[in-house]
Amino acid sequence: MTYRLQPSFVFETQPCRVVFAAGATASLPTEIDLLGRRRVLVLATPDQVGAAETIGRMLDSRCVGVLPIAIAHVPIETAKIARREAGDRRVDCLVAIGGGSTIGLAKAIALESGIDIVAVPTTYAGSEMTPIWGITEDGQKRTGRDPRVRPRVVIYDVEQTVTLPIGLSVTSGLNAIAHCIEALYAPDGNPIISLVAEEGIAALSSGLARLLSDAAVEAREQCLYGAWLAGMSLGATSMGLHHKLCHILGGSWNLPHAETHAVLLPYACAYNAPAVPSAMQRIAQALGSETAPDGLWALARHLGTPRSLHEIGLPQAALDRVADLSVQNAYANPRPIARDAIRVMLQDAWRGDPPPASGYR
Ligand code: NAD
Repeated sequence: MTYRLQPSFVFETQPCRVVFAAGATASLPTEIDLLGRRRVLVLATPDQVGAAETIGRMLDSRCVGVLPIAIAHVPIETAKIARREAGDRRVDCLVAIGGGSTIGLAKAIALESGIDIVAVPTTYAGSEMTPIWGITEDGQKRTGRDPRVRPRVVIYDVEQTVTLPIGLSVTSGLNAIAHCIEALYAPDGNPIISLVAEEGIAALSSGLARLLSDAAVEAREQCLYGAWLAGMSLGATSMGLHHKLCHILGGSWNLPHAETHAVLLPYACAYNAPAVPSAMQRIAQALGSETAPDGLWALARHLGTPRSLHEIGLPQAALDRVADLSVQNAYANPRPIARDAIRVMLQDAWRGDPPPASGYR
């Protein structure tokens, strides 16, 4: 591969302590003591109340409550209850055990109060590494960036992920790969994040394939490592066309979030391919494939995720409207968003035809 230095960039490091080890959840009391915190509220979804209560017992007198009320997309009503609980119990630290929904609830509390978050992620969504928050009010999800919501400590403990069903692991992992792909061609990317993203793609793609064949703990470890790198990539850069299209399809047609990512990724990558050949070369290398769109297409086939927008419920009649919406509001993308080319790409994605290896012209 030809070496080309990105001619100008900004790189900012953020303080965050990462503890990566099987069984690392046991270090939570020490981590809380190192932070100098004494009154911890443990957050979880109702499904994960068992794990949250175990942590509560482990924290002993440091734990002032367990609140298993996290649900998808952080409704403002849930955020208000959680903020009130945190205030009433004079909480000085939040432990979030779960996926993006639980960490999202912790962020909603921290956004107002600045209380420290310690995250124990149990999916591959990556929210624990970002300063991005999201709260849903009147059916609209507002999002923003604020350094106060970025967790201070993240504990990656593979033992907390072994219960994640394989189907959810695969779609969550592909979603994480999408963060890495778009970080590699983001206008605000930098050489360090490109290295991180490339390694993230390699770890996740091979980890997911192994997970499917033998569900070994080492495969899960590899996926969790990749998820960390993907979260870093997401937190450091602006996402492009792929994330925009997923947002449109999820928001306006209610398509399932993770499956939409899985279907669209090879196509969005093929759309951007002609504009960013060196990023494509790095993606292909990380996937061990001839070209980036080919590699993503083959990975999704191998993992058995849905093939087409048709399959996950998008009516063909919606394609024109999706193309119209994709050109509204400026957003970061390496190639200008041309409605006609997007429409051709969407037609292929709707049918589930392979994307052109050299990209959409
Ligand atoms: P999730 O947190 O909604 O979890 C999905 C379900 O899986 C829940 O019922 C949960 O209890 C269960 N679950 C989680 N881990 C499990 C495990 N190990 N074993 C068994 N069950 C488990 O799903 P997610 O994909 O992690 O998060 C999605 C949300 O996160 C979305 O709202 C998305 O917008 C947000 N998100 C935010 C960011 C950010 O930077 N702010 C990044 C990525 C995703």
